[in-house]
Amino acid sequence: MNVYTFGTSSGGKDLYGVDIYAGTGTPKETVFITAGHHGTEGGGVEAAMEFIENYLESDTPFAQQLKERVRFTIVPCVNVDQYALAPAQRAYNNLNDRDLNSQYNRRRGIEPESKAVKELYLSIEEPINLAFDLHETEGEWVKGFSIFENKPYRRRILNHAAHAAGKVSKQYPLHSNGVIHDINPSCFDGFACGEGAYSYTFEAPLSKKFAIEDRVEMQLIALDDIITLYYKDRV
Ligand SMILES: [Zn+2]
Repeated sequence: MNVYTFGTSSGGKDLYGVDIYAGTGTPKETVFITAGHHGTEGGGVEAAMEFIENYLESDTPFAQQLKERVRFTIVPCVNVDQYALAPAQRAYNNLNDRDLNSQYNRRRGIEPESKAVKELYLSIEEPINLAFDLHETEGEWVKGFSIFENKPYRRRILNHAAHAAGKVSKQYPLHSNGVIHDINPSCFDGFACGEGAYSYTFEAPLSKKFAIEDRVEMQLIALDDIITLYYKDRV
């Protein structure tokens, strides 16, 4: 595991990335996972941290093969200035009051956090075939977990989100049927698709009905399932 800084937030804090790769030479591909674009969605940040821990500890033959072939690049917290505050004081936007997940469209102004994530992503030379962005949706109207699944231009659609939503639904409710194919070019999601990745945005329900442990678990179930489905025949 390699931990490094790749940029500076609007409040002057370091942005951290984590790479996990156990192979020799250049990895064949990278999986990119990011979280914490929004300062009030702590379950996503927690899930990214737990994913790192679980993946490092995992010693199944599949995990070993994956580690030797694929690099995982994880940015657990994009909006670092908000997460440095106590939970009750955190805001959704960054310190410049901008939504960091509407900064990926080239025609718009770009905040330092989103710009750094974009540059880190573009600096990776091997193909990134899977990209994940972990979020939560706030509101008592949110019934459960959902996944935005989008495919890059001209590649076939995957139905891994439906499978992952089915798996989550064994333990937790979904919002609607749990799967949305709807791309937003201003978001990380649209950016990653534009760069050739199958792109997944997770939305856990941020409401009084769901404890943070449950919201984290939903994200981890979906993450594990999609990565396993995609790579089970490829490593
Ligand atoms: Zn969000």
